Amino acid sequence: MLEHWSQQIASFRQTIPEHVRIIAVTKKKSVTAIEAAAAAGVYDIGESQVQEAMQKHRQISDHLPNLNWHLIGRLQSNKVRKALAIFDWIHSVDSLKLAQTIDRISQELDRAPPQLCLQVKLEADPQKTGWASEALIEQLPLLDRLEHVEIRGLMVIPPFGLDNAKTQAIFQAAKSLQTTIQSQAWQHLRMDQLSMGMSNDYQAAIAQGATMIRPGRVLFGDRDH
Ligand SMILES: *Cc1c(COP(=O)(O)O)cnc(C)c1O
Repeated sequence: MLEHWSQQIASFRQTIPEHVRIIAVTKKKSVTAIEAAAAAGVYDIGESQVQEAMQKHRQISDHLPNLNWHLIGRLQSNKVRKALAIFDWIHSVDSLKLAQTIDRISQELDRAPPQLCLQVKLEADPQKTGWASEALIEQLPLLDRLEHVEIRGLMVIPPFGLDNAKTQAIFQAAKSLQTTIQSQAWQHLRMDQLSMGMSNDYQAAIAQGATMIRPGRVLFGDRDH
């Protein structure tokens, strides 16, 4: 499997522009998936659950110390401390309260500031959490005060089952929100990243300015449930 996956990832990589960072989403796959990504030169690993990531981290962090771990799934406040022990990036920061908790615990742990993306919801979606644009813009001054985290960008997950045109429109709206935010002067906020695009829509996301994509199935095949 390692060989097969790493070839798959290597050829996928060739189709992606250099400036786009590939986060290999290895959730529900064995640590072999992570080893395959590293063998193909992809050191950015996406996991959606803290518990699962901790187990994998324990198994491979000794022989693969250079991985960057990205949390892409919902984070509950009571798991922040555990998450900060492993993850370099948290893409799924979906409320001011969570951002403040991460900031406080990051200070307590006296660690390098975690890199955060703010999860935005640009289309009503009962299955997703995250900020609507207006709410986010309103809270930015408070987010800008957090000194123990680096707020790096926005994360977008379009609602399930949208057609291509709608998906494109959401990615475009994300880009435009990023541009709006960047046009203001901030103390700490550094909105240089757009985390968007999964297996079925990464091309559209790149076309609209994604700087990080999060493919899973296209690299490792379907997940069993
Ligand atoms: C599962 C997941 C992915 C990867 O999805 P694929 O369809 O396997 O590419 C990307 N981002 C998030 C937030 C996910 O939960």
